[in-house]
Order: sequence, then C-alpha cells, then structure tokens
Amino acid sequence: MTHTPDNLEDEKKSLNFLEQIIEDDLSSYPYILTRFPPEPNGYIHIGHAKSICINFGLAQKYGGKCNLRFDDTNPTKEDVEYVDSIKEDVTWLGFQWANELYASDYFEQLYAWAQLLIRKGKAYVCNMTAEEVSENRGTPTVPGKESPYRNRSVEENLDLFARMRAGEFKEGECMLRAKIDMASPNMHMRDPIMYRIRYAHHHRTGNAWCIYPMYDFAHGQSDFIEGITHSICTLEFEVHRPLYEWFLNHIADEGQLKPKQREFARLNINYTVMSKRKLLQLVEEKHVNGWDDPRMPTVCGLRRRGYTPESIRNFAHKVGVSKRENIIDVSLLEFCIREDLNKTAPRIMAILDPLKVVITNYPEEKTEVLHGKSNPEDENSGTREIPFEREIFIERSDFMEDAPKKFFRLTVGGEVRLKYAYIIRCNEVVKNEQGEITELRCTYDEDSKSGSGSEASQRKVKGTLHWVPAHTNISAELRLYDRLFNVEDPLDVPEGHDFLEHINPNSLQYASALIEPAIAGVQAGFRCQFERTGYFCVDKDSTTEKLVFNKTVGLKDSWNK
Ligand code: ATP
Ligand code: MG
Repeated sequence: MTHTPDNLEDEKKSLNFLEQIIEDDLSSYPYILTRFPPEPNGYIHIGHAKSICINFGLAQKYGGKCNLRFDDTNPTKEDVEYVDSIKEDVTWLGFQWANELYASDYFEQLYAWAQLLIRKGKAYVCNMTAEEVSENRGTPTVPGKESPYRNRSVEENLDLFARMRAGEFKEGECMLRAKIDMASPNMHMRDPIMYRIRYAHHHRTGNAWCIYPMYDFAHGQSDFIEGITHSICTLEFEVHRPLYEWFLNHIADEGQLKPKQREFARLNINYTVMSKRKLLQLVEEKHVNGWDDPRMPTVCGLRRRGYTPESIRNFAHKVGVSKRENIIDVSLLEFCIREDLNKTAPRIMAILDPLKVVITNYPEEKTEVLHGKSNPEDENSGTREIPFEREIFIERSDFMEDAPKKFFRLTVGGEVRLKYAYIIRCNEVVKNEQGEITELRCTYDEDSKSGSGSEASQRKVKGTLHWVPAHTNISAELRLYDRLFNVEDPLDVPEGHDFLEHINPNSLQYASALIEPAIAGVQAGFRCQFERTGYFCVDKDSTTEKLVFNKTVGLKDSWNK
C-alpha cells in the first residue's frame, strides 16, 4: 500500500486499531503472517467467523498469509470430527490458509523448551495438588504463597520432569510450573502451570504422551515456531500477554523475530449463546437437532439456515474491530443476509395457507404460460414460466369478507391484481356447513394481463397478490424458525437456575406450502425468496418425493415492532 502525504491522515483515521498496528509494523517486519487457532473441541460459530475474517482479512490486506492452526493440546475434548468441520467452514467462508498446522506437532519442541527453562532455573516440578496450587495463589490484592517445591535443584527438576514424561507418576501427582513471581499483581504470573499429567488418548499423537502443555505454554510457542508476526486474539487473553511475552523472552534468541499478541473484543450477539461448551450441551441434550440445526449460531447452522458466506463476511465487516466488549443485535446479522439475498435470490410464489379461487369466466381446459422476472433487482437473472389456470390458490389472509377500509387485498366486490397475471374481481364466497370459506368465485379481466401493454394492463388496483396454480403446484414442508432463546442474554440467570430455561419453545414450527412449479428439481442449499413471505433455503432433509425448506429470514424485521 502506498501513501501520499495528503491521503495518509484520512486513511489512518479509517483504519481499525489492528490495521494501524500492522501498518506501523510494516517497515520493521519482513512479512505479515497471522493465524486462526481453533481448538478442535466443537463446531465453530459466528464469533469464530469474526476472528477468521479478521485474521485472514489482515493477511490479505497487507500481502501476507494466514495459517490454520489447530490448538490441540487438550486431549480429552478434541476430535477429528471437529477438525474436518472447521476446515470445511473456513473454506466455505471463502478463505484459504497458507498452512494447516497442529500444536500437537510441536510437543517435542515444547518439551525441549520446558527443559531449557528448567536449566535456566525458570521452571520446577511441583508436587502440590491442583487445589493446593489454586488455594495458595492468593488474590489480586493478597500475594500468593510460594510452593515448598520451588527451590528444587535443576538436576532434580530435570529428572522429575523426564519421569513425568515417562509415565512414572499418577495424574495430579505433580506438575511443571514456571518460576516467576508469587506476589505479581497479575495472577497469571504467579508460577503458572506449564505441564500436567493426563493419561488420555490424543486424536493425533495417540498414547505417545502422558504430559500435556497448558494453553499458555503452547500458544505463544506455536506462534513463534511458525514465525507468526501478529497473534490476534480476544480480550480475555490480554491479561495473559505478560506471560506470553515472558515465555518467549526466555526461549527466543537475541534478535529473533517474536510474534506480537494483540487483543480485540469478542463478538457477542443477543438471543443466543456462543460458548462451544454451551452449544455442545444444546446438542448433547437434544435441545436442537445437531450442531447444524438452523437455529444454532454455528457456521454450519447458519449455512443450513440459508446464510451466504458473503453475508457473514459483510456482517463481520459491519461489526468492525473494537477494544471494548459490546453486544450486537441479532437483527444486524439478519439485515446482512436479507440485503444479500434481495440482490441474488430468485423469486418464487408459495402459498402457506391456501384458499381456492375459481375464475369462472376462464375456460376450463385452458392453461397459459406466464412469465415472471426471476429477480427484479438483477437484470441478468432471466425469467421463469408460471402456468395460469382457471383454479388457483391465494393466501387465506389475503381475503376478508368484512374488510375495513384500509384493507387493500381481496374482498367481496373488490379487485386485486394477481402477480404476473390478471386483475380479478371477487363475486361470491362459498362456505361449508361450519361456515368456513372454502372457495372464492371470481372473474378476470381478459385484457388486463401484466406486461401486455394494453390499457387495462396499466390499470391501477390497490393490491397485488401472489398465487399458485391449483393443479400444477408442488407441495413442500416448511420449517419456520424463531430465536432459540426468548431473552436477550440467556446466560444471565439467578443462582440455581439454568440458561436452558430460556429456550424459546416455539423456535421451530412446521408448516406446508404449495409452490409454483418452477421450483421443481432444486437441490439442497438452493436459496430463493417466497414472494411477500420471506427468504427460504432447501434443506438437506429433502427427498425426491418431498421438498423441505428452511426459513432463512423474513422480508422485514418482525421483532422491532
Ligand atoms: P468458545 O469460548 O466459544 O468455546 P474459544 O475461544 O474457546 O471459544 P477457540 O477455538 O479457542 O474457541 O477460538 C479460536 C479463536 O477464535 C481464538 O482466537 C478466539 O479468540 C476466537 N474467538 C472465539 N470466540 C470468539 C468470539 N465470540 N468473537 C471473536 N473471536 C472469537
Ligand atoms: Mg479456547
């Protein structure tokens, strides 16, 4: 990027703080290399998508690269299923990593560095239990107590650490701790744990190891091994930064390039939860139908719901990068998908609650083929064919027998236009024995055909209704979604209560629809707008016998009313 003096100031202003940091570093770093470092212990969610957009986006903007690194140092919760899903999701979001890497590949190097710290007198084997360690850690205002094992000799520590690795001790019997400062005002600097014993099978290293490094003794070191320049993470790691730097200062040689950790505010969205642990609970206890349930904030859930990668990238862009925690209204996410689909989704007519209309002056045997623009927002989208017949269905709610003045849809004696077709007038209402309306008998104005150019075709009527032909439509199942939780912050629960109590019992409702025949043959993932109803997407549960649609989002925001 080249700057001229007069555009420099403007551009600086429009940069977010991470971009500013990188721009200031461009002259002192030989290249820019970021990474996205998921722990493969669940499916990634929209918060991770923001992190992906930031890390890959910064690399793209500054001619650098971004690694995908699996932070797989905790064997008990991780699985290849998650690794595969994360790769699929990052790719789907539109990003390509430079290298696919695993922190577990660095275990041997990490072990060697731990030995180095022991030799430098900066680490020791401690035989306190995890509970004793936390009891003796003190509080932010009260210094911690030093471990009685803190002053073991280098030789003894090297020997004990080697025996930890060799499997001579039981889980919890001992651990390796950094020797820093038990009185530090930063609790993370009070002799943090570096390694603990775990007799667990690891999804990549199998049973090769029974000691596993803690996050703080793996993350920065992995960044360093890969030559990461900017290690960007969320704000909760800000307090870990001194420890991140402390470890690197003790393992790097003079003059070696060290990664810089910088933190941004994590994405929070209302009416949902975003911790993988909570999402896992929703899946395991079957409150939702799997990780890709369209109500989930996971990337695979959003994809199944009908979200596009563009809409998610655009959302991340609009949310921006900030240094302060805030909560984003879910309607912004909905706005982004609506905006995208308005431009790209073909239009289709579908009727959810059908009311039969018989056009009594239309010939019984006749069918004519009408044409509808596929997408009025896109000139190149072409047209679709819609058969018109004597019998059609309209939406029941588009008719009212005793209508108030402001009702611009169909009433007895009133006229409406059928979209892409003719103006009709309702003459008679047919009811069954229970008094329910079963049919409307209407007449059409033969000269009023849309687009025919005739005088009658230009006649203005107040309402335009969507419709489907009665005999050649295709029926489908619709899944209508609402917010998964009925409160803004589901995790805000009093003692003794659980976030699950806030699940919205009506977050999934089933409906059926009759759809114009142009829908035939669509595949899972196909997105369209059901005119006047909302945006929908074909679900993977569809079969050749039955189409299933997920409602992505309504045409308008219905919650702000
Ligand atoms: P969770 O707390 O939801 O389980 P996590 O932080 O444990 O998420 P990781 O797999 O460790 O999940 O995260 C990978 C990267 O994604 C980290 O750099 C993390 O900071 C980032 N990240 C996680 N959640 C969010 C979020 N809500 N907003 C932005 N970035 C996030
Ligand atoms: Mg994590």
